[in-house]
Amino acid sequence: SKVKDMSAEVVDSNPYSRLMALQRMGIVKNYERIREFSVAIVGIGGVGSVAAEMLTRCGIGRLLLYDYDKVELANMNRLFFRPEQVGMTKTDAAVQTLSDINPDVVLEAMYGCSCDPYSSLVKDHQMDDSYTLNITTLQGFETFTSSLKNKTFCPSKEGSGVDLVLSCVDNYEARMVVNQACNEMNQTWMESGVSEDAVSGHIQLLVPGETACFACAPPLVVASGVDERTLKREGVCAASLPTTMGVVAGLLVQNTLKYVLKFGQVSPYLGYNALKDYFPTMEMKPNPQCSNTACLDRQKEYILAKPARDAAAAKA
Ligand code: ATP
Ligand code: ZN
Repeated sequence: SKVKDMSAEVVDSNPYSRLMALQRMGIVKNYERIREFSVAIVGIGGVGSVAAEMLTRCGIGRLLLYDYDKVELANMNRLFFRPEQVGMTKTDAAVQTLSDINPDVVLEAMYGCSCDPYSSLVKDHQMDDSYTLNITTLQGFETFTSSLKNKTFCPSKEGSGVDLVLSCVDNYEARMVVNQACNEMNQTWMESGVSEDAVSGHIQLLVPGETACFACAPPLVVASGVDERTLKREGVCAASLPTTMGVVAGLLVQNTLKYVLKFGQVSPYLGYNALKDYFPTMEMKPNPQCSNTACLDRQKEYILAKPARDAAAAKA
C-alpha cells in the first residue's frame, strides 16, 4: 500500500538518502559532488567545531582543521566538545568525534610541529608549545599556506587545494592573517563572527579582487584605534551563548553548501541580531585604496578579466 512505501523510505538506514532527496526534489543538481570538495576551517571553537560537524554530517570530502588551543572545561557552554576531551587539542578532539560520525571524510588536523598530520590519533605527540598551530606566527603562517596548496586530495583542482576557507577565529589579528593568505593565494573564503555580548553575529563571503577584503573595510573597533589585545587584558570576559554560535555556524555552512554545490543565492554578507530577529544583508565592493597590496593586485586582475567574464556570460 501507499502508507507502507512511505514508511519504508523513512526508515531507510542510509544517512545519505535524506541528503540525496535534495536532488530528487530539485534543490541540488548533483549532491554527490559534495565528496569532491575540501574545506579548511581556521579556529575550532564555538563556531568552527559546529561548522565542522555539520560539514562532516553532510558528507564533505575533506576537512583541514587549524587551532592553537586545547579543550577546556570552560568550553562546555558551547556545543560539540565533551568533558572527557578536556586537555586534548581542539583539533585532535574534533578528529576523534568527527571520524566516528562519518569515517568517509578525510580529516587533517594541522600541527605547528613536524608531526605527520595523518597520525592525529596517535597518543604520543610531543605536547609542547610547538604542537598546536598559531597561524599568526611566521612558521604557523608558512604551514597554513602550504597546507592550502596541497593537492593530493584532488590533483586536478585549479588554484589551491581547497575549495573554501572558513574563518571561525575570535580575534582581529588572526582574521587579518587569513585575509593575507587568501589574498596572496587568490582563495575564496568566508569570515564569521559573534559579538562580545553574544547576541549578534555575521557571516561574509570574500572573493579576492571581486568583493571587499577584510582590510578593505576594517571593523569599527579597529578604525577607532582601540587595541583589541588591551581590551582583552583588562579582564573583559566576553559573553557566549551556544544558541548564537549554533545559528552563525548554521548560516556559515548553509552558505558553504550553496557555494560549493551551486544552488540558491550565495550570501555576500548576512548578519544576525538575536534581540530583534533582524538579518541584515549587504554587498561590499573592494576598496581601491586598500592597505593590502595583494588585494590591490587581485582587484587589477579582476578588472582585466572583465571582457572574458562578459563573453562567458553572453555564451551561457
Ligand atoms: P573564549 O571566548 O573563551 O576565548 P575560544 O578561544 O574558544 O573561547 P571561540 O570563539 O569559541 O573562542 O573560538 C575561536 C577559536 O579560534 C578558538 O578555538 C581559538 O583557539 C582559535 N584561534 C584564535 N586565534 C587563532 C590563531 N591565531 N591560530 C589558531 N587558532 C586560533
Ligand atoms: Zn582589500
